[in-house]
Amino acid sequence: MKADLHCHSHFSDGKHTADFLIERALLNGVTHLAITDHDCTNVHAELHRSEALSIIKGVEISCDWQGRELHIVGLCIDTNNSKLNNLLEEQQQKRRQRVCQMDAKLAASGITGLLPYMATLPAVAQTRSHVADFLIQHKVCKTRKKVFKQYLNKSGKAYVAAQWCSLEAAVEAIILAGGIAVLAHPGRYGLSRAKLSHLVDDFAAAGGEALECAYPNIAVEMQTYLLKLAADKSLYISGGSDFHDAGAAWTDVGKFPWLPKSTHQFGVWHHQRWSAAT
Ligand code: AMP
Ligand code: MN
Ligand code: MN
Ligand code: MN
Repeated sequence: MKADLHCHSHFSDGKHTADFLIERALLNGVTHLAITDHDCTNVHAELHRSEALSIIKGVEISCDWQGRELHIVGLCIDTNNSKLNNLLEEQQQKRRQRVCQMDAKLAASGITGLLPYMATLPAVAQTRSHVADFLIQHKVCKTRKKVFKQYLNKSGKAYVAAQWCSLEAAVEAIILAGGIAVLAHPGRYGLSRAKLSHLVDDFAAAGGEALECAYPNIAVEMQTYLLKLAADKSLYISGGSDFHDAGAAWTDVGKFPWLPKSTHQFGVWHHQRWSAAT
């Protein structure tokens, strides 16, 4: 098997359709693909069963843990579950409100037109990534790096703090929808080892069942640490490209350092709820 259990479509901040993701996955030899948009599952209504590729229904929920923003991937979810859908609708609403507040901040510095721009997009979950595209198209900044630094990061001119659901609420909604909760890219939160271990304890106590231990640009030491944490706490392991855009060179569907062979026995695909869903 060759799995990619984390990627985005144009229903959140990915640039492409479901068909494009599937084509790309097949081209790159992927056998199991989870599409995991930020706070929405609309892409799954567009998918058809494919012989060559198992498609796993997923989502990536933004949440709050001790004042920090974390991402929880849900795999093998029932996209008709009303508890999950209620939570996702709330998150989408918060995203729209945040974009309105960002628009007001931008307008105060003379940059207008964000809301009409957003209305032209297929995105159901509006993100800062879309705001970045708008600012680049309007030649406010040349690169995404600059636009995040000057406008969209915490110290940026148009920054608005998001009010995400709690870690516990995100994990609970995934479980209620029959899914498996995976802590996404744990090495990307800038946490010390002690804090990371504490987070994983809280995540597991909430019902979280897997750690993402393979993703682009992960340091070897971080992967080793995460694999050990997963083993110590009896969690499954997962991995994904976090692919958004074929125009960005840092990742591609199915192209990231995969999990070491000796750890495959702990892969999330061995979870009892996996086979029922794929
Ligand atoms: P949001 O969920 O609205 O806060 O948007 C976050 C999204 O913006 C992430 O999922 C990334 O796709 C993108 N993003 C966040 N930080 C950066 C950055 N420094 N450079 C480029 N893209 C970023
Ligand atoms: Mn994203
Ligand atoms: Mn993420
Ligand atoms: Mn992601």
